[in-house]
Amino acid sequence: MKMYDVSAPIYEGMPVYKNKLEKQPKLNTTTNGHVTESRIELDLHTGTHVDSPLHMINDGDTMETIQIEDLVGKVKLFDLTGVDDRITKADIASLPIEKNDFVLFKTKNSLEDEFNFEFIFVAADAAAHLAEIGIKGVAVDGLGIERSQPDHDTHRSLFEQKVIIAEGLRLADVPEGEYFMVAAPLRIQGTDASPARVLLFEGLKEE
Ligand SMILES: [Zn+2]
Repeated sequence: MKMYDVSAPIYEGMPVYKNKLEKQPKLNTTTNGHVTESRIELDLHTGTHVDSPLHMINDGDTMETIQIEDLVGKVKLFDLTGVDDRITKADIASLPIEKNDFVLFKTKNSLEDEFNFEFIFVAADAAAHLAEIGIKGVAVDGLGIERSQPDHDTHRSLFEQKVIIAEGLRLADVPEGEYFMVAAPLRIQGTDASPARVLLFEGLKEE
């Protein structure tokens, strides 16, 4: 059984959204010669993570409302590395995406190691299309699922239909296909996001 670890490594100086310094993780390690302990200051949207509706909706649901069962199971990964600028409805309308699917979109973002201000994102019409189908979740390889949308239409139309959003996956090595996903955000309570380890397994069947 082949496993892909599609989680971004977390370290000081890692790629962060818009290269904002305040979004960099800060690691503080102390040792008394016998015992070493570290603290990390971390934006919860660092690297690979899951968003909760509170991120974009006032009084929205927080991380613990997302059931871990919904983050573990069969997913469909689509190769959209041919897409430029943004994923539109036209790019995905003919894909076999069905109600309750969890879909992963692999784009050029996965092929770049630096933060790209022109990263590929999910356009509002594509998000509305996915919300209408009634998918369970969507995971992308950008550090944001949207870019420069003043009204945050992409996040909002997905959150309003309770679609789970995961961001910052690293999919360069993973071919298009079906996988068994284990996406495990840290069990942080009451927040708008949580960093996650995301693993994809090839040929592992759901019961
Ligand atoms: Zn986020």
